[in-house]
Amino acid sequence: MAHLIDGKQFAAKLREKMTGQIATIKSNHNVVPGLAVVLVGEDPASQVYVRSKGKQAKECGITSIEHKLDVTTTEEFLLNLINDMNNDAAINGILVQLPLPKHIDSAKVLEAIDPAKDVDGFHPVNVGLLSTGGKGMIPCTPLGSLMMLQDYHSDMSGMNAVVIGRSNIVGKPMFNLLLQQSCTVTVVHSRTKNIEAVVREADIVVAAVGVPEMVTGDWIKPGATVIDVGINRIETAEGKTKLVGDVHFESADKVAGAITPVPGGVGPMTIACLLFNTLVAACRHNNIDLPKV
Ligand code: NDP
Repeated sequence: MAHLIDGKQFAAKLREKMTGQIATIKSNHNVVPGLAVVLVGEDPASQVYVRSKGKQAKECGITSIEHKLDVTTTEEFLLNLINDMNNDAAINGILVQLPLPKHIDSAKVLEAIDPAKDVDGFHPVNVGLLSTGGKGMIPCTPLGSLMMLQDYHSDMSGMNAVVIGRSNIVGKPMFNLLLQQSCTVTVVHSRTKNIEAVVREADIVVAAVGVPEMVTGDWIKPGATVIDVGINRIETAEGKTKLVGDVHFESADKVAGAITPVPGGVGPMTIACLLFNTLVAACRHNNIDLPKV
């Protein structure tokens, strides 16, 4: 059996560390990080995410402001709200929960956010900074995956890494982060030929596909580290539903050296990294170093 990389535990430790750092910047600099989350409409999954983000932010000592807007909210209203928040010194992080209703241009909204407050790391300026190695905001899911990889491998230099999926929110930023670690990175996608053979060469596999249990144990090189980003709800034989990843855990667990579970792997790290980005933004805005605790 592979070593289990426990994202839930890792995220709890990170939140504990951040709680200490936030208390330190409050007492030393009178700075309290502020996160504003905007939800338009009543998508049930989005409501759960927003509630969870707000709760965890408060527990760490971050001021959390939620803007719950009606589904009929206009693009103009949303852009004005973002402009106000860009100019509000008490707000360090702005997150607009996706998906937005169809009548709103998501790209226009995301580009209206001040890049220094873009804690999701989706603004084109941050995308550019990540690819050039500059000081931007890193998207939360790839950042959480990287933190767990760095904890397990002290040095990833020269390792073969394969990222399955090329989305803007996971696959592409993950490629850049692994490249920064001096991995030899291959990105595979739906048009890749003989994908299993490419994955079998990998010392590190990051699966971000959205296809339940696609990556099976026979795709994995013995001893490889497997990070499963996928979150898929499937129906069981008993007619219930359960969450599974993009990796078939039981078979991959027998071959891999280390593996993240679903649930309890990358998922909890994503929200923890949103809080981390808010803390980083608050420190940068106030020109203070991230406290070491
Ligand atoms: P997207 O749908 O945006 O991208 C999926 C990628 O997988 C695409 O690049 C696509 O290729 C590729 N792909 C799809 N089918 C295949 C296939 N059969 N073989 C090879 N490649 C394939 O998804 P996301 O990146 O947004 O999310 C991926 C998964 O991660 C989902 O399960 C999602 O729920 C989960 N997720 C989890 C998060 C977390 O917090 N843990 C956060 C974000 C996402 P192509 O480009 O050619 O179409």
